[in-house]
Amino acid sequence: MSELKLCQGTRCHQYHTKDRLKGVKGSKTFQTRRRSAFYYGGGNFCSLNCQNDWFNDFGDRAIDHFGRLTEPKHLNENNAWQKTYDWDSDHNLVYVYLNTITKEQRPLTREQYRDDNYILNTS
Ligand SMILES: [Zn+2]
Repeated sequence: MSELKLCQGTRCHQYHTKDRLKGVKGSKTFQTRRRSAFYYGGGNFCSLNCQNDWFNDFGDRAIDHFGRLTEPKHLNENNAWQKTYDWDSDHNLVYVYLNTITKEQRPLTREQYRDDNYILNTS
């Protein structure tokens, strides 16, 4: 049996839904949702509501902890590379690194496309 995760929403247990009502008959309580997988907030929240609840309670502190922007970032030719994909004339999926400013494309393998740590040497 796979391990169940708890929704990290700070008020998940306060939503009155049938699936949250758990326990022995006569002493049931609304409880934080438990699932094998969640689809919001990087797999941490059962719903957008719960994700928003968490952010409303902790978002400011999280931003301060990881570094609040104090001046705008600028998109330029050096940091405009994005992984993307397209279909070639034979309807094959092709992966590319696209410079969204210059429109230059460089080929990627499927493994490089899926590897979050893979960074193109653009120099
Ligand atoms: Zn939740």
